[in-house]
Amino acid sequence: MLDFNTIINNIHNNLKDNVVKGVVASYIPELSKQDVNQFGIYMQHMDGRSFMVGDAEVPFSIQSISKVLSLSKAIAFENNDIWKRVDVEPSGNPFNHLSLLELENGIPRNPLINAGAIVVADILCSKFENPKADFLQFVRDIANDQTIDYNYKVAESERKTGYNNYAAANLLKSFNNLNNNVEDVMDFYFHQCALEMTCSQLAKAFYLFANKGKCINNKQHISSSQAKRINAIMLTCGFYDESGEFAFEVGLPGKSGVGGGIVALLPNHFIISTWCPGLNVKGNSLIGMQALEQFTTQTNLSIF
Ligand code: GLU
Repeated sequence: MLDFNTIINNIHNNLKDNVVKGVVASYIPELSKQDVNQFGIYMQHMDGRSFMVGDAEVPFSIQSISKVLSLSKAIAFENNDIWKRVDVEPSGNPFNHLSLLELENGIPRNPLINAGAIVVADILCSKFENPKADFLQFVRDIANDQTIDYNYKVAESERKTGYNNYAAANLLKSFNNLNNNVEDVMDFYFHQCALEMTCSQLAKAFYLFANKGKCINNKQHISSSQAKRINAIMLTCGFYDESGEFAFEVGLPGKSGVGGGIVALLPNHFIISTWCPGLNVKGNSLIGMQALEQFTTQTNLSIF
């Protein structure tokens, strides 16, 4: 039997003193305050065991990882109708690319680039009665943790500097692919990105994608087929223009965010999350990518 505790502790030990840690995101001023030396790993096995090391219980800004959570709620509301408004093809563009160029007739290339996530945010603004509060409740419910919250300073910091995202929203509006007004959708979008979670909370929130749509306390939130599709989108689009590299090196569906978090999963087996705020040139956590590569190599557990 694999000794996950020793494996993740060794990986943490091997990587924590790396001199090259990457660079924290600074285009959202609040994120530039993060300490590049923080590093946590949390693994939730589906047999009930969990393992953690380092800063696995320190909250951080989940940023684009939230796009998977908003997508799953939008799919639960809309089912296949969502694909009339957003496509499912990888983009191959950098994380801070002006996503406007990925729009084809106002249809974003996939739901994990900013333009696609803004369409998803628009769907949630239409469907929820109180979008920000209802979305937060959804995340708390799937993670089975009522303490999760937004970081309002990060949301405000992003709103103040979010010119590209406003531009994308305006372009979507001009193509009639945004039903609500731009300010309301962006307010929702900036808050979802500013959700603050720990590695442990993230692994639990992503449990439903490994468990055919049933969350950690056994409630069915999405269907098994919807979970399959979300995993496919994570595998092909979850790491900006490094999605191929992540599939190649790690071999798991997953999603990263510019706060330095990564969450990945092996359906029916486990969910693993890492946080280390320094990013590589592609916008993914430099140490997190290496930790996950070492984990699937050492355990031989991947979807391939
Ligand atoms: N809120 C960030 C933005 O829209 C998300 C960036 C990311 O994690 O990819 O720029």
